[in-house]
Amino acid sequence: MTTNSLAAVIDELTALLGADGIAIDAERRQRLSRDFYWFSPILEVELKDVIADAIVFPRSDDDLLGVMRIARRHGVPLTARGAGTGNYGQAMPLGGGIVVDLTRMNRVLEIGDGWLRAQAGARMGALEDAARASGQELRLMPSTFEKSTIGGFLCGGAGGIGSATYGWLWEGDNVHAARLATAETEPRLIDLQGEDVAAVLHSYGGCGILADVTVPLAPRTDWAHVVYSFPTLAAACDFARELTADTRIAKRLVSISEATIVPLFNGAIPLVTDESRHPALLIVGREHLNAVGTLTARFGGVFERALSESRHPTVSDFSYNHVTLWAKKADPAYTYLQASFDIARMHEQVALVKERYGATIIHHFEFIRSGGAVAMGGLLLWKFEGAAHLEELMRFLGEIGVWVSNPHTVLVEGGTRRDQRWEPLYRAKAAYDPDGLLNPGKVYGSHRELAKVT
Ligand code: FAD
Repeated sequence: MTTNSLAAVIDELTALLGADGIAIDAERRQRLSRDFYWFSPILEVELKDVIADAIVFPRSDDDLLGVMRIARRHGVPLTARGAGTGNYGQAMPLGGGIVVDLTRMNRVLEIGDGWLRAQAGARMGALEDAARASGQELRLMPSTFEKSTIGGFLCGGAGGIGSATYGWLWEGDNVHAARLATAETEPRLIDLQGEDVAAVLHSYGGCGILADVTVPLAPRTDWAHVVYSFPTLAAACDFARELTADTRIAKRLVSISEATIVPLFNGAIPLVTDESRHPALLIVGREHLNAVGTLTARFGGVFERALSESRHPTVSDFSYNHVTLWAKKADPAYTYLQASFDIARMHEQVALVKERYGATIIHHFEFIRSGGAVAMGGLLLWKFEGAAHLEELMRFLGEIGVWVSNPHTVLVEGGTRRDQRWEPLYRAKAAYDPDGLLNPGKVYGSHRELAKVT
């Protein structure tokens, strides 16, 4: 963008939003152009200079639509941002342009019996509090729920607390409806439901910017946050599989870690007394604690401790990508891969990884229910040894039947959307962002596939 046209865009945005609704100083432009891309040593280098030309802070649907119209008229790229806790540079404006920070669109709009509607910039933790005050709770939240926004979770996340019962974000009716601001020739707000919503989930805001969303609520449960440990990783995984399969036991989180992670965790809080044992971090219905205790005993498990639901670190602070965070705190050389192991072959696959890579790879698993069956999401940690080693590791995992999602690319197709249904996303992108102004460079297939689907 030329200096003159940027100045014109900034003038129009300031007229729309007021001086308080736009940031053009270097400090905020840089800070709000970043997410947790640095979890990847590859992206840390590739994206280090990415910076927006301006950050805007819409407060209402009208503000948002006004921003879309100005950007459309001037052909300026727009990248949505929630709290910036996403990985893979999802919310980073590769070619500059405008970052649309949604965090001032943060109101709970309505809570009904079994559902909640909120503006997209509302923090998940605040929504959970609001839902609990109504005797209900969210079905799904990422482990970053205190900071992350619902729009960011829907467009950048995959699952988390609750997936042990409700699966991935895009499964079943985990999202009821969404209001989307489009980047068509005449930008507009459209209401999406069913399959049309599913198409824009985990799309990195490449098909439109969510203004508000409606998600289902579950009845409020009294949860216990507990840690057990097991003598072997195999015993911990067998326990986790059985617990996740048992639909009589209410559960939100079933996280298993290899014992070698324990020293990385124990720096934060002593979780497991004997560091040769493998921890299971659980959020389970308090009324089912006895049943959980009986089940753990069958696999040689012992109770280690309970953790507070609200005081950090909580159990979920050691789950999902928080595991990478602890590892990197202990040693910045650690990096990660997200992977899905085949539940029927889990012991064999883990053994094959061990045989090939020994103690250099550390395993962490989330057990979830996906498509009505138990599934096993894996997070592998190791100390980065270069791109060639990463390629070799990914190839090896593929060969032994482990599905890998690559967190070292900015492309949505490399990320965690495990159902790999890209065509509806490409269609939505073609319809709602025909000129590719939204988060450019993230939806690779849209360039390749648009011709086929339009
Ligand atoms: P951002 O990072 O701001 O944005 C994420 C993506 O969504 C970007 O592409 C952005 O452009 C787009 N976006 C944001 N708002 C909108 C909008 N209104 N409309 C359209 N597009 C939008 N993820 C999980 O799924 N589960 C986990 O348990 C989990 N744990 C994590 C732990 C750690 C320590 C870290 C660093 C990350 C973790 N993540 C997890 C990833 C991330 O925290 C979640 O995806 C989170 O929900 C993102 O929310 P956010 O508001 O920070 O989104």
